[in-house]
Amino acid sequence: MIIGVPKEIKVHEYRVGLTPASASEFIRNGHPVFVETGAGEGIGFTDDAYRAVGAEILSSAAEVFASAEMIVKVKEPQLNECAMLTEKHLLFTYLHLAPDPKQTEALMASGCTAIAYETVTNDAGGLPLLAPMSEVAGRMSIQAGAHALEKEAGGRGLLLGGVPGVAPAKVVIIGGGVSGMNATEIAVGMGADVSVFDRNLAVLSKLDHRFRSAIKTRYSTAHDLEDAVLDADLVIGAVLVAGAAAPKLVTEDMVREMKEGSVLVDISIDQGGCFATSHPTTHADPTFIKHGVVHYCVANMPGAVARTSTFALNNATLPFGLALANKGWKQAVADDPHLKNGVNVSGGFVTYEAVARDLGKEY
Ligand code: NAD
Repeated sequence: MIIGVPKEIKVHEYRVGLTPASASEFIRNGHPVFVETGAGEGIGFTDDAYRAVGAEILSSAAEVFASAEMIVKVKEPQLNECAMLTEKHLLFTYLHLAPDPKQTEALMASGCTAIAYETVTNDAGGLPLLAPMSEVAGRMSIQAGAHALEKEAGGRGLLLGGVPGVAPAKVVIIGGGVSGMNATEIAVGMGADVSVFDRNLAVLSKLDHRFRSAIKTRYSTAHDLEDAVLDADLVIGAVLVAGAAAPKLVTEDMVREMKEGSVLVDISIDQGGCFATSHPTTHADPTFIKHGVVHYCVANMPGAVARTSTFALNNATLPFGLALANKGWKQAVADDPHLKNGVNVSGGFVTYEAVARDLGKEY
């Protein structure tokens, strides 16, 4: 199967569908790889690095789409990219179709088969192609929060880990799933005083086994959460209720009562945010101050560390991508029900039930 890797065209998107090492894996499996010139340039993957593993560099996205059967990307295709897709194409990328009727209709009209990273599943009931980005966001949230606690950034002027003789900052992490667990890892590593809230006892138990007395695990009731938030220096919002908007666990009244210069990092902002006072921000202007509290609410946190994120994403997508190329998509999804869950559009129809329901499409 011929593989195509176009350059991402969303603003400030520097990730790329295949690293040179991943391109090499496809080539070793007998699949030619065409890469648009400059596709990996923003994160140090030169055209020569792709040529060195045997990929061919093409000068435009139009040539890549015209030459390839399988398009590997990161972000959902923009409408001009959808216009280059045809029934011969297999598209493998993040799609997030439910809130995006225009993209959905354009993909249906193209006749292509589109497999969404975010709906591929695993035996543990998780989303293995979404997890690497939650890992990145979780780890980054503490880095972003530590910076926001500095005086110049509007924070209280606190060092997360304190120093000998000075108490560390109090960090409250709401949600101990993939991103919350990774936030905990870094906060503990930096010497902060960490409490993690969740409603799932199995999650709390896993955290307790892993971190022992280095953290406090807390069952998430509104009452206890309020006490902890009012006493916190840094609060990380990392909750997810599958298929629903994030619950507003921190109310505006609570934010008003928080300490001046304390910090809220809302990782869940891509699902609407779990703090009542959050609104989405960008890497260009990541924070704002409301009621004296610094808010960091960037909806695409992994984009800031695009090189790490590209490697992490490729580690997760490569086996599925190779299965699709080696077997053809029909056989690959017949062999793997988890990959089958990724098929969102095919032959002009929406083939993923939740998307069809949300958009009122025939399923
Ligand atoms: P996850 O499912 O692994 O973890 C979510 C946790 O929230 C679960 O353990 C769940 O039990 C817990 N939870 C649910 N309701 C709760 C409540 N009332 N109180 C306390 N805990 C509660 O999810 P994840 O992969 O960690 O993702 C978390 C969020 O981060 C999602 O909204 C995801 O889309 C988002 N995310 C954002 C970015 C970004 O750039 N901003 C990047 C990656 C992921």
